[in-house]
Amino acid sequence: MRGLIAAAVGALIAGNIAAAAADNSFAVRDVRVFDGDKTIPLATVVVEDGRIAVVRRDAPIPAGLMVIDGHGKTLLPGLIDSHVHVFPGAEADALRFGVTTELDMFDISRDFKTWKAQRTSLGRTGQADTWAAGLGVTVKGGAPLEMLPPGMSVPTLDSAADAQKFVDARVAEGSDYIKLFIETLSEYHDRRTMPTLSRAEVCAVVAAAHADHRLAIVHTQAEWAAREAIECGADAIAHMIPDRVVGTHFIALAKRHHIFFETTDDVWAGASGMDFAQKLARDPRVAPYLSPMQRATLLATEKKVTPRFFPTVLANTRALHAAGVPLLAGTDSPNPATAHGVALHEELQILVRAGFTPQEALHAATALPDAIFHLGRRGRVAKGYRADLLLVDGDPTTNIAATLSINRIWMNGYPVDRTLPKK
Ligand SMILES: [Zn+2]
Repeated sequence: MRGLIAAAVGALIAGNIAAAAADNSFAVRDVRVFDGDKTIPLATVVVEDGRIAVVRRDAPIPAGLMVIDGHGKTLLPGLIDSHVHVFPGAEADALRFGVTTELDMFDISRDFKTWKAQRTSLGRTGQADTWAAGLGVTVKGGAPLEMLPPGMSVPTLDSAADAQKFVDARVAEGSDYIKLFIETLSEYHDRRTMPTLSRAEVCAVVAAAHADHRLAIVHTQAEWAAREAIECGADAIAHMIPDRVVGTHFIALAKRHHIFFETTDDVWAGASGMDFAQKLARDPRVAPYLSPMQRATLLATEKKVTPRFFPTVLANTRALHAAGVPLLAGTDSPNPATAHGVALHEELQILVRAGFTPQEALHAATALPDAIFHLGRRGRVAKGYRADLLLVDGDPTTNIAATLSINRIWMNGYPVDRTLPKK
């Protein structure tokens, strides 16, 4: 009988906890907060109906709210990965590692309706929110079309005169920004070559994107191509430059044109034979939460290793950051040695290795992308912002690797279940 009563009481308590957990209102008391820019040593954060209501020391907590003790922990904005490629399952993988927003940089599914519906909602979801370029601008036989499934063809640009029409079509589909590709594979120094957009076409596409009030983000992996993109008035370079250490002339050009970069240094680490991704896959804070796809892409390797890339990328990251060029943390997942969500934690560690303070690295994955892409009140722990939040044990504002010690994640104020989906 007592057993039965205990079971009944247990069920009742479990039911209450479940009911409370279903709510998107809660408070985290006495926690260290990284607010997107700076660290607040001690605060109480109150979330109401999926948005942050109060961030203040000793803030009053409304009666009945679930309260989490934040001692010894740090509350951060949900992380934003500024360079990914989405596919089914990717956004759930991202969210399990506290990445609550992803910016796709070329995608053939073009599922804009679903993405826009999700990111404007404050509903319960098991997926990160997505902004997307959709289809990028390239030429027949140009990058990245070699990665498409065999037999699939997509529209390509034939001439500078067609640029506006081509870009208008992308915008009509729903592209949030315009991605274009300058790629001849010259960075491999082995006479490989690939057809690519001419300088006139690059300049015309950038102008067309701006006429449609869209940012123009250019894929380049060579210093000459980055220079061409900047001179054409592009807004961003999609990868850190791996082929040569940039000089003062390049840095001055980048500054004069207010260019920003998406880093993707993790890809260059993998392409250079560094073992960061393998170490990450073995980390006990990571391994239990990796989906088969995440494990596969993290452990994938390039056929040919180019050791000179990573030291060059680190030097360029350091020099551009020191000069005040905005660098957004991006991973280029799911390329070899990356994986949605988890790779962003590695990217933050690489940025610190390249001279960022831990707070600057966190800023590059939170408030900075929101300021540039206008993502709708996310990337900060501040009143009125979406309650996409990451609670970690320890202090990533002094030890960046602590971002991996995930205690809890919330998306739209709802707790995220980190359990892997059953097959
Ligand atoms: Zn990419």
